[in-house]
Amino acid sequence: MLFYLICPEIVREKRMTKIRTRYAPSPTGRMHVGNLRTGLYEYLIAKHENGTFVLRIEDTDQERQVEGAVDIINRTLDKTGLIPDEGPDKDGGYGPYVQSKRMKTGIYMKYAKELIDKGEAYYCFCDKERLESLRRTIEMDGETKEITVYDKHCLSLSQEEIEANLAAGKPFVIRQNNPTEGTTTFHDELYGDITVDNSELDDMILIKSDGYPTYNFANVVDDHTMNITHVVRGNEYLSSSPKYVRLYEAFGWQVPVYIHLPLITDENHKKLSKRSGHSSFEDLLDQGFVAEAVVNYITLLGWSPEENREIFSMEELIEKFDYHRINKSLSVFDIGKLRWMNGEYIKAMDFDTFFEQAKPYLEAALTKGQDLRKVAAMVKTRIEVFPDITEMVDFFETLPEYDPEMYRHKKMKTTPESSLTVLKDVLPLLEAQEDYSNDALYQLLLSYAGEKGYKNGYVMWPIRTAASGKQTTPAGATEILEVLGKEESLSRIRTGIAKLEAALG
Ligand code: GLU
Repeated sequence: MLFYLICPEIVREKRMTKIRTRYAPSPTGRMHVGNLRTGLYEYLIAKHENGTFVLRIEDTDQERQVEGAVDIINRTLDKTGLIPDEGPDKDGGYGPYVQSKRMKTGIYMKYAKELIDKGEAYYCFCDKERLESLRRTIEMDGETKEITVYDKHCLSLSQEEIEANLAAGKPFVIRQNNPTEGTTTFHDELYGDITVDNSELDDMILIKSDGYPTYNFANVVDDHTMNITHVVRGNEYLSSSPKYVRLYEAFGWQVPVYIHLPLITDENHKKLSKRSGHSSFEDLLDQGFVAEAVVNYITLLGWSPEENREIFSMEELIEKFDYHRINKSLSVFDIGKLRWMNGEYIKAMDFDTFFEQAKPYLEAALTKGQDLRKVAAMVKTRIEVFPDITEMVDFFETLPEYDPEMYRHKKMKTTPESSLTVLKDVLPLLEAQEDYSNDALYQLLLSYAGEKGYKNGYVMWPIRTAASGKQTTPAGATEILEVLGKEESLSRIRTGIAKLEAALG
């Protein structure tokens, strides 16, 4: 407050620079969880400050385009609630929002030519053969890579030569002209100040021979012309960032805040691969994960709130998301942890929403007219992902084979012998019973136990075992009988008796 009184103009200036972030996926296929995390952080940074979240489709690499990939992007944003304030479907005055459409406006060529005029870029007419001869093998990120270290050959072409080549329609690219001496420094929010020798900066291509800009050029032009204030992306772009910063400086533009995120790996510290089965958002949904849980979990892969808590709604994330708390340690995708979190989301769901999502699994598993809502209520607090339902409820459909030893329970003090006695006792009671509601059955068995002086568990354990054939069930004996109905319940009790008699000789 004091600060505000003393420096109102500073406060005003801060308010005027409205935060604008952009999510800039390339439509190349599935939505990798790493990409989704980038989008999430961009979204949260913008929303935390009441800023604008922009969607930009980066389709300059025409060879890598995959049909339907833009739909995947839109579906993912929709399902995760990352609704762009501006984007291809919502013009906010900074369009077009698709790079191939931006290219048609001539924007990239215009700025490339501006750089040529400033001596910061140049036409390059070198053919394939010449470039091949410049290829070198280098070690980068622990991998051996083949790169072309361009030798500035075309920088020495005279204006006449350039014009003659252009007039003759000779194919060309436009390259950045980086100095060979001195250093370039830039700042990343996670990695701090990074300084590189300019001699390490290759003269990267800005405009390709097909007229499209490279990502390397387009990201700078677009982020600037779309007024982007904060850029979040994978740290594979960190090594190119000095070149981007040089472009900003050449134009005299302000460099955005850079936040380069570390890779998300599997438990073995390897890049998440398609084989792991959970590397893309839609894979996770197919496996029965809830979008909100995935969003919650992915946000915590590299960011932690001040308090020691893990479950956050989107509103809470928006409120708490301070990007200074993003950390640069490797983020390990722990599917077990996500399963746990998903289970918490399922528990917290309202019943009808849960039922809608559980229904397909219940319908596939239970075909004999069982009360699906009742079964759904039993499993809701017990599953971690929806497909868990199938195995948990299949005994309602068919009584599985089971070992008579299952009737033995230390805590309940039951044995196969005691169980046989109880089952034989209760069979006529259950035959005479008309009301098969849980409550009525419970009263019936309770009074039987009371009369005999048995503990409840001593009676319920054998009945539950006979009714389910399972060690663990999502509900107690009488709830199970209720779903099974009279006929099936009696049949299973009789099967239990026969099984025990056979086992006990
Ligand atoms: N199109 C780039 C990608 O999908 C985006 C990188 C960035 O956010 O600048 O990897």
